Amino acid sequence: MAYTYDDQNIFAKILRGEVPCNKVLETEHSLAFRDINPQAPEHVLVIPKGPYVNYDHFATEASDEEIVDFTRAIGRVCTLIGVCPQDGGLGYRMIANAGEAGVQEVPHLHVHVLGGRVLGRMLPRQG
Ligand code: AMP
Repeated sequence: MAYTYDDQNIFAKILRGEVPCNKVLETEHSLAFRDINPQAPEHVLVIPKGPYVNYDHFATEASDEEIVDFTRAIGRVCTLIGVCPQDGGLGYRMIANAGEAGVQEVPHLHVHVLGGRVLGRMLPRQG
């Protein structure tokens, strides 16, 4: 089934300059900005500029150039916010939610980069 992208989502509006953001990094194909409702001392969202709804859409249809740019942008954000263990940072977590099971709220691919504190278990134990 073909992917459908809603260009009225809030991140599309940020990309068009219709809504402001607290920018951390911009590259040719990617944009990173601070989450408006941070879940950790460092909480940055990294998005591709292209109209991709989630990671599987991006992996399927993005160009190699976009994928390399996005991957490196995430790494550069980790460096910029000081969370890389290699540089003495505490570490970080990357999350990309998709669809209903992932409880994705904004239908434009975004990777959350979280850090600045010990984040606990990846998922709560069930039962
Ligand atoms: P998700 O549940 O993975 O789709 O996460 C969407 C994230 O976008 C949430 O963490 C929101 O706090 C964040 N968010 C929504 N609107 C904005 C905005 N205008 N600027 C920055 N972050 C936002």
